[in-house]
Parts: sequence; structure tokens; C-alpha cells
Amino acid sequence: MEVLTRDLFTCQMCTRSEYRTNLLVCDHIKPHRGDETLFWDMSNLQCVCKSCHDKHKQRDEQGSLHMRGVWD
Ligand SMILES: [Zn+2]
Repeated sequence: MEVLTRDLFTCQMCTRSEYRTNLLVCDHIKPHRGDETLFWDMSNLQCVCKSCHDKHKQRDEQGSLHMRGVWD
């Protein structure tokens, strides 16, 4: 929720504002893989809408075309 307010309820991927908070999710920029520091690091969190989040996930699951996030 803190991340959603910080990012002004705007998806950081498609920059669309979304006021229906149930359509927004907090996404970890770097996968935390159980690392608590990364998990709670506000700078590692971004607000994204559900459709971007799903695309993002799909891309991750497609394997290792990109070693690092394309958002860097
Ligand atoms: Zn989006």
C-alpha cells in the first residue's frame, strides 16, 4: 500500500493511472528469492497494474532471453 501511494497509483510500466486499487499490485523489480532485505526494500518495489504484472510474469516464465530486467 505504501508503494501504491508513493507511485501515485500509477502503473510504472504503462504509466496509466489506476484508482481501482484492486487492479494494482506491488511488484518486486529484482526477484527477492526469499531475501528479506530485498523483499521489504521500497526501492525494489514498484506499483504496476494487473495486466502489466501478468505480462511481466509470463516473460519471466519464458526463460532467460533477458538476463537482467529490461526495465533497468
Ligand atoms: Zn500497466
